Amino acid sequence: MPDLYIDGSWRGALDERTREIRCPADGSRVGVVDEAGGKDTVEAIAAARRAFDEGPWPTTAAADRGDLLLRVADLLVRDKDALARAESLDTGKRLVESEYDIDDIANCFRYFGRQATAETGRVVETGTPSVDSRVVYEPVGVCALITPWNYPLLQTAWKVAPALAAGNTFVLKPSELTPHTAIHLMRLLEEAGVPPGVANLVLGAGPEAGAPLADHPDVDLVSFTGGLATGRALMAAAAGTVKKVALELGGKNPNIVFADADFETAVDMALTAVFLHSGQVCSAGARLLVEDGLHDRFVDEIVRRASRIRLGGPFDERAQTGPLISAAHRAKVEAYVARGLAEGAVLRCGGERPTGPGLDDGFYYPPTVLDECSGDMSVVREESFGPVLTVERFSGEAEAVRLANDTIYGLAGAVFSTDEAKAQRVAARLRIGTVWINDYHPYVPQAEWGGFKQSGSGRELGPSGLAEYRETKHIWRNTDPSPQGWFG
Ligand code: NAD
Repeated sequence: MPDLYIDGSWRGALDERTREIRCPADGSRVGVVDEAGGKDTVEAIAAARRAFDEGPWPTTAAADRGDLLLRVADLLVRDKDALARAESLDTGKRLVESEYDIDDIANCFRYFGRQATAETGRVVETGTPSVDSRVVYEPVGVCALITPWNYPLLQTAWKVAPALAAGNTFVLKPSELTPHTAIHLMRLLEEAGVPPGVANLVLGAGPEAGAPLADHPDVDLVSFTGGLATGRALMAAAAGTVKKVALELGGKNPNIVFADADFETAVDMALTAVFLHSGQVCSAGARLLVEDGLHDRFVDEIVRRASRIRLGGPFDERAQTGPLISAAHRAKVEAYVARGLAEGAVLRCGGERPTGPGLDDGFYYPPTVLDECSGDMSVVREESFGPVLTVERFSGEAEAVRLANDTIYGLAGAVFSTDEAKAQRVAARLRIGTVWINDYHPYVPQAEWGGFKQSGSGRELGPSGLAEYRETKHIWRNTDPSPQGWFG
């Protein structure tokens, strides 16, 4: 069955190219999918344009759009097992994590299904009785939705659900490394009754299948989640046609632990913060900032527990985390560690490819702790996106804030302290989009997600997540017109 979904039909690539997908956990073949080129993407854009300009979707009642999203949520729950399995095979992540993700994804569709009718406009008081003035929200138009490989279907859901709720049409381009759950989602959208041309899927490499999405005049909005360098390039390409651009980029997220933190909780959360999904999480707490007095005891315990984390494939029930996505990505992580050591960091654990049964054919890299780091090291400044924790010391509140904010990124981070007032003060001064206090990683679809500084230029989830996909229009109606212009 062909894998590109364009104008309500499934088809292969115009030049018949395909790509083989292999599981990062053991190199086994997951499948072969159609690989779009630029011409396929241009066709998908044309279909989305027609569906927006002529089709029923943008003017379908918001309640009906919302109902459709609720049906998709039910279908996601129905197909949870197959979706979770496909996600794990593409990414190598543990099945239990994928199952958790599918629940989140269904919740996201439910949230935006309900949000579709939450706010549809407002009346504006003009002071003139003969004027009826309203502000209404309308869809932006054709949306290009470009997503990464780390949480493939979750990142896709965060874009597809609000885009549809607001009445847009779209072309989705997921990461070329992890296409299978996007294909499945399109089948569910079709089953739920999304009209032809509203939802389009192209698979393939960024520079080929993705590039037209950023500069094509028929695309109105680009919503991108991925790396900083790609985000910068897309923003520049989109400038030619002044598209709306929503970027969710990387992070180098500080996890600040004060000496008065609850020790067991802070250790436990610091491990989760950085080693979940082997560090391939945009909000990973990869920079540990520990207050001087606590440093030695805290880092010793982190190292003791990090060294025991069990690696394994998606279906190994004893595994605690999985492989990296690709050989190239592992090489990048290794290079960051090597550079950090050359710059003076002290290796406390990890740092060498693991070997042994079940590990030799996958792209595994162990939880790694680099101690005695400083803010000028590349491994501290740049996103390695792997299981690498850098440790810096600080003394007092002001230095914690200064070190934490000394980065071009501003996505997320945490503060651990039993002093409630201090934790709140520090949280208020962090230049980041999400701050957790005495916790790490939880999120809810009702809240906002997005970055300060170079972590992004948009918001996802929450009411602002929907607002990204809406234009705001003011309609002024003179209910008692008469000739009274300036030149009468
Ligand atoms: P990436 O930038 O390499 O690729 C992301 C997507 O962009 C892929 O679909 C890719 O094919 C596409 N792409 C690449 N070049 C393109 C081009 N010229 N035109 C159009 N599309 C193009 O990122 P990645 O390696 O897939 O993902 C990891 C990155 O994503 C990390 O930096 C991580 O922090 C970030 N991320 C951010 C968030 C967030 O919410 N802020 C969430 C998840 C991941």
